[in-house]
Parts: sequence; structure tokens; C-alpha cells
Amino acid sequence: MIEAGHIEALKSLVGEKGLLTAPADMAAYETGARYDKGRAAFVARPATTAETSAVVAYCVKNAIALVPQSGNTGLVSGSTPDDSGRQGVLSLDRLTAPFALDRVNRTIKAGAGVRLSDLNAKLEDTGLFFPIDLGADPRLGGMIATNTGGSRFLRYGDVRRNTLGLTVVLADEAGTVLDLSSDLRKNNTGVDWKQLFIGTSGAFGIITECVLNLEPAPKQSATALLVPSSPAEVATLLVAMEDALGSYLSAFEAMSGNAISAALDHVPSLRNPFQGGIVPDFVILAEISRSTPPRDGEQPLDAVLEEVLAAIWEREDAPLADAFVGPPHEIWALRHALSEGVKHSGRLIAFDLSFRRGDIMPFLAHMKAEMPDHFEDVTICDFGHIGDGGVHFNLVVAKDDPRLADPDFEMDLRDWVFTVAVEQFGGSFSAEHAIGRKNQAFYDKYTPDDLRKLAAGLKTITSPGPLGAMTF
Ligand SMILES: Cc1cc2nc3c(=O)[nH]c(=O)nc-3n(C[C@H](O)[C@H](O)[C@H](O)COP(=O)(O)OP(=O)(O)OC[C@H]3O[C@@H](n4cnc5c(N)ncnc54)[C@H](O)[C@@H]3O)c2cc1C
Repeated sequence: MIEAGHIEALKSLVGEKGLLTAPADMAAYETGARYDKGRAAFVARPATTAETSAVVAYCVKNAIALVPQSGNTGLVSGSTPDDSGRQGVLSLDRLTAPFALDRVNRTIKAGAGVRLSDLNAKLEDTGLFFPIDLGADPRLGGMIATNTGGSRFLRYGDVRRNTLGLTVVLADEAGTVLDLSSDLRKNNTGVDWKQLFIGTSGAFGIITECVLNLEPAPKQSATALLVPSSPAEVATLLVAMEDALGSYLSAFEAMSGNAISAALDHVPSLRNPFQGGIVPDFVILAEISRSTPPRDGEQPLDAVLEEVLAAIWEREDAPLADAFVGPPHEIWALRHALSEGVKHSGRLIAFDLSFRRGDIMPFLAHMKAEMPDHFEDVTICDFGHIGDGGVHFNLVVAKDDPRLADPDFEMDLRDWVFTVAVEQFGGSFSAEHAIGRKNQAFYDKYTPDDLRKLAAGLKTITSPGPLGAMTF
């Protein structure tokens, strides 16, 4: 609970529409995309950077904790309040202005509350797009705060690579507004301050506006489902595809047979694309694309892909056992349904790991072999962005498994997976979902003391007020 006087004061800063306190109105902001259900003291929804600054200054002066939230699709309990009922949610969902395209510079200046789908829908006629692609529909502020990766990282990089400038409100008593809104691609005139706010989950400040790089939208694409001849050959296949296709290769995504079966079972609109309906153990989705329209005399991309796959197939050490070239929308529908399918197949315990590319398949083989000895009846339903070293290592346990009643069970499982991934294979415990309450314990465990002290010091300098779900 929070004093009525604070509620009235906040209302005077953002208006009736900008402050929610009724439980029914706050429910969606208190509930995370996958796990969380917290309790908010209020939800503040400022509509401008100035209103954001006023709310933040008031809250800092009165020691009211704020959790920034954009699209609320994050998966590490970073965007929702805890269950104390004392944290306010600072929703950026009304910050949809400005929306200013610079066609020559190939940049957009946009409010942090703009949804990714709205941005790309509005850009459709310009031939440009913001090249981050994922199975959720986040808002730009949250994407920057988590440094979203997604399925086309291989070609376009992450959000960090495509962010030129930011406007940020600091959680200090003045609600200081930092103007870092450069729209220059080359600018080396001192510290690149915007980097502090990218991928750090709102701990150092609140993003209210951004300047983003846009790319020419793909005009042609071709996709295939590839079955490697063995798990060990996945790396050979990736290198062979890159050698043959260079930057045409725009996605190289992994899908385990378990994850595909879960999607086919739970998402009725999907068609099973495999011969005889038999789902292979491991499948790669490969996409090639061009940003130019088809030209007379040019080989269509389907034919390019088929030719490259045929050449790989004919190699003596062929890393490929089977391949199906199919319509991109159908193949991507399967890929984007994996998360939903896995979620419905039992109680999901998910990990967002990354490795050197050559270590992913050895890690998966190790876990498959070791899992039954460590944790019985846990199904591995992995998939992920294997072309850039990412793997969503999903574990599914039957919903009525009695071990789920023991709070130590999930923590022991997480501890074991992270120990193998980070300590044995040199991987990351959070590849592209950033940090939040869900992985706080592992941030504390795996971040060296001197770096944690440095982060805590930066937090004190930038945003000393209680901001964000994490403790630094
Ligand atoms: C089905 C599904 C598929 C997904 N696939 C991918 C994927 O392929 N790749 C990937 O990277 N992620 C993926 N995600 C995770 C998620 O969509 C991304 O992390 C996303 O970018 C989060 O953006 P959001 O707007 O929803 O942020 P939120 O969930 O609202 O917030 C995320 C974090 O950022 C902070 N924050 C939010 N807004 C601001 C702001 N304006 N200023 C400062 N801090 C802020 C929050 O406090 C929180 O810590 C997926 C999620 C789902 C549900």
C-alpha cells in the first residue's frame, strides 16, 4: 500500500488517464508474459519525456520504487513488480511520439512506447524496416533495455548495433533528462553514454525516445528446413552455408524435434511439413534473402538455395541428411510457434543461453546424456538462434510432477544447468533476455566482485533512486 497523498500527487503530474490504481486496470501490468504475477502500488503512464521526468523525480524524493515497463514481453521478471505491493509500475506505453523518419539518413526518431509491429507497419511504404525479428511484439524502450537479439541477428545484429541515440530520464531527485539523441552513425567525441542504457534492463535510467538505424527491407527470400546428418555436423553445415552464401544467409535457426512436436500438438493452424509426418530429432531453418526486387535473368532465390544445398549434399562428408525448401510464411509460422507449443506441453523451466557456435551441439549432447542421472523425467525442448550462438534451452516437466511443489527443485535444476553452461562450456547465462529477478542470483554468482562494484557505483551516479527489478 502507498499513502493516498502520493496517489493524488502523481495524478496531478500525469492526469487521471495516466495513473491506474484499480486492481482490474492494473492486472495486465502486474502479470508477466510467462511467469510473474506481482502486486503494484500504482501504474503510472506518462505521455511525454517531461511527464516521465516529473513522475520519476517525485518518486525518488519520496523513496517510491519504480519498475519500468514497455511491452511486458520480457522473460526474466524484469518488467513486473514484486508481490510487496509497494513498487509502482512506470509504463512507457503512451510514449508513442515522436515518430520522425529521416529517409536519407535511413533513421527513425521514435517514442519508447512504439510497438515493433507498428513501427514496421508504418515503414512498409518506405522500403525500409527495423531489422529485429522475434516471436513477440515488444515496444522499443524494452527492446533497447534488453538488447533484443532475435532470428535475424546473423545478418543485422542486435538492437545495440542498430541504436544511434537515446533520450533517457535518470532516477535522481531532479528526474534529469539526458539528451543522447545523436542521429550520427560515426561519432567518437568522448564516452558513448547510450551504451550504458542498452541491455541493462532499466537499472541506470529510463529510455523515453530513441534514434534507430533502418535497413532496406528484404524484397525476396527463400527458406528451407534442413536435417543435419548428425548433431556433430550442424557446425559444418553452418560454415558450408556461410561459405556458399555469404551475407545472403539471413537466418540459421535450430529447432529440436521435441519443440516442433510440442508446437504441432498445441497450435492447430500449423501444417506438419515433414515426409510421412515424422518429425526429425533436430532441424535447421535456413533463410536467404535479398533487399533488391527480382531482376530479369537473375536466378530466383529458391533456385539459389536448392543449388547450394545440392552442392553441400554431394560433398563426401555431406553434413546434410535431408532438406525441404518451402514457403517462408509456413516455415516461419512453425518457428514462431515453438515458444507457445513448449509453454503448453507442461511446466516450462526456460534458459536463454549462448555459447561459441562450435560449442552448442556438444553442450546439448552433454545435457541429453547427463539429464536423466541428475533430473529424471525432464524433457529437453530446445530451439534457438544457433547461427549466432544462442539456444533457448527449455526444460519441460509434467504439470502434476510432485517435485514442482518443492521450491528447491527449480533452483537446483537452474543451478546445475548454469554450472554446466557457464563454468564448463564458457557460455552466458543470459544471451538476449538481459537481467531481472529471475536471474538475479546468477548475476550475483557469475559477475566478478570488481565488476559488480563498478556497476553498483555507476548506478549510484546515474540513478540513485530505487529503479528497476534488479539489485546491483
Ligand atoms: C514468445 C516470445 C518470444 C521471444 N523471443 C525473443 C527473441 O527471439 N529474442 C529476444 O531477444 N527476446 C525474445 N523474447 C523476450 C522479449 O520479447 C524481449 O526481451 C523484448 O525485447 C522485451 O521488450 P518489452 O517491450 O516487452 O520490454 P518489457 O518486458 O516491458 O521490459 C523488459 C526489461 O526492460 C526494462 N524496461 C522496459 N522499458 C524500459 C524503458 N523504456 N527504459 C528502461 N528500461 C525499460 C524493464 O524494466 C525490464 O527489465 C521473447 C518473448 C516472448 C514472450
